[in-house]
Parts: sequence; structure tokens; C-alpha cells
Amino acid sequence: MTTPQLSPTQVSPSGFDLTAPTAEERKALEASLTREEADVLLHHGTEAPFCGGLLDQKDAGVYCCRLCGMPLFEHKTKFESGTGWPSFWAPVDEAHVKAIRDVSYGMVRIETTCARCGSHQGHVFPDGPPPTRLRYCINSVSLEFVPYGAPLPDRLRRGEGVAKATAAA
Ligand SMILES: [Zn+2]
Repeated sequence: MTTPQLSPTQVSPSGFDLTAPTAEERKALEASLTREEADVLLHHGTEAPFCGGLLDQKDAGVYCCRLCGMPLFEHKTKFESGTGWPSFWAPVDEAHVKAIRDVSYGMVRIETTCARCGSHQGHVFPDGPPPTRLRYCINSVSLEFVPYGAPLPDRLRRGEGVAKATAAA
């Protein structure tokens, strides 16, 4: 994966402020999580396959980080992988998803986190469909679906507006 070039103000190419939440903001965000969400987002857990609420979601819209609300994926890159977890072949903006080498459980995998708040999302594997051949395997509880035209969660109150289609994909 390429490392996105960020401007000094930390704004992503699609116009989102990538500045990490303050300690106080983070505390408030974490307090809003259910136990299962906290287990996955904060403690690198994995939900059971075929149980996630977004597995069969096919509506047009964006998938936002459950913790900080930043858009991470879009329905246009979602595909049925058969794995039991929501799968995408590209993020909505490369700058929004961070890849980290993960050597836990005796495997070498690439973990993906929200680039803004650092919450655990899932893993990315090199066996996805074209054009990227990548498979972002993401936990449903790490995401919140927002249909086009509906207000984004904007949990950090940065004036993020409504969910809209990107030019990409
Ligand atoms: Zn986030």
C-alpha cells in the first residue's frame, strides 16, 4: 500500500480532518461503545462470522468508523467474499485507512485501523477481486452505515455534512 501524503493541516484528499481526537474526546467516544464494539475497536477483537449486522447491507451509502465517525468505505467497493465478514476491495479514501503489520496468533497479517482515531477495523488480504485484488475484511461492529444524503455521524463535531458519493470506484 502507498503511504498517503498528508498536508500539514492533516486534511485527506476527500476533505476530512485527520487530526486525532483529543484525550477528552476519545474518552467520550469510548464511553458510547457497547461491550462488543469496545472489544473489537479498542482491544483488537474479531466478531463471529456471519453474525455482523452489515454483512448483507447493500444500500447506497458510506460506512463510517464506529468510534470517530470518519467515512472509511463505500457500498461501491463492497463485495460478497463468502467469509462471513463485510468485505471491500478499496477504502473510500486511501488516507482514511491505515495498514499495520500484525504478527499475533502466529500469522503475518496486515491489520487495518481508522487513520484518524486508530481503532481496530479488521485486516486486508491480497486475495480480493479486481481492480485492486485486495480484500478488506472488516468487522460490522467497527462500522456504521450511513445512506447517501443522510447526516454523517460527525462525532468530533467537525462539520462533516452529509454522506455523498465519491468520484472514485
Ligand atoms: Zn475512527
